[in-house]
Amino acid sequence: MQFIVAIDGPAGSGKGTITKRISNKLNLINIDTGAMYRCVALECINRGLSLSQKEKIIEISKQIKIELKDDEKIYLNNEDVTKEIRSKEVSKIVSQVSAIVEVRYNMVKLQRKLAEGKKVIMEGRDITTYVFPNADVKIYLDASLEERAKRRYKEIKDNGQDITYKEVLNNIKMRDENDRHKKVGSLKIAPDAVLIDTTNLTIDEVEEKVIKIIKEKSL
Ligand code: C5P
Repeated sequence: MQFIVAIDGPAGSGKGTITKRISNKLNLINIDTGAMYRCVALECINRGLSLSQKEKIIEISKQIKIELKDDEKIYLNNEDVTKEIRSKEVSKIVSQVSAIVEVRYNMVKLQRKLAEGKKVIMEGRDITTYVFPNADVKIYLDASLEERAKRRYKEIKDNGQDITYKEVLNNIKMRDENDRHKKVGSLKIAPDAVLIDTTNLTIDEVEEKVIKIIKEKSL
């Protein structure tokens, strides 16, 4: 029987970390939808496309093979791109790529297919509102802009990438703005989602809250 835990929120709100932990603890399939849009953006870069070549980008979103493996590795056309999709070049263009309506339709189709008949935890921007508006559990994670930028900066530095805090802050601001104003699948809080502000919470505290909410909906 299908069981969907849908988690939305802006960049750096803790979705990725929490989703990974909970998928392991509760044995749910983890579907990181941001990684899917990042694969489309990476393929655009690999093929030397500019953002104005909309038709070609749509074609890419139809043709590429994206795999989310059990060990959390992301494969694009049979190649491990787990690291590459987090590069600053990809982060710079991904929100514009994901704003193309046809790209979204193709990704949403894939997201729904991946969850067919399964027990999943899926995170993104429009999972509670558009991809699975009838999800069994709906959660919106948020945190202040500064806290989100701080977390993302640390994560990127820990991964050995060269970046300044200012660059991270500006990228998150730009993506927030783009993600909140998309024609389809914009970032917003579903009226029936549980809102958790993670600004002053530890990962353990967030995890505890989320697990409690899921358990109340009886897995
Ligand atoms: O979650 P992450 O920061 O990796 O997502 C990268 C980008 O992908 C977001 O900034 C957003 O533009 C896009 N995205 C989206 N819809 C989703 C998930 C991500 O538009 N469900």
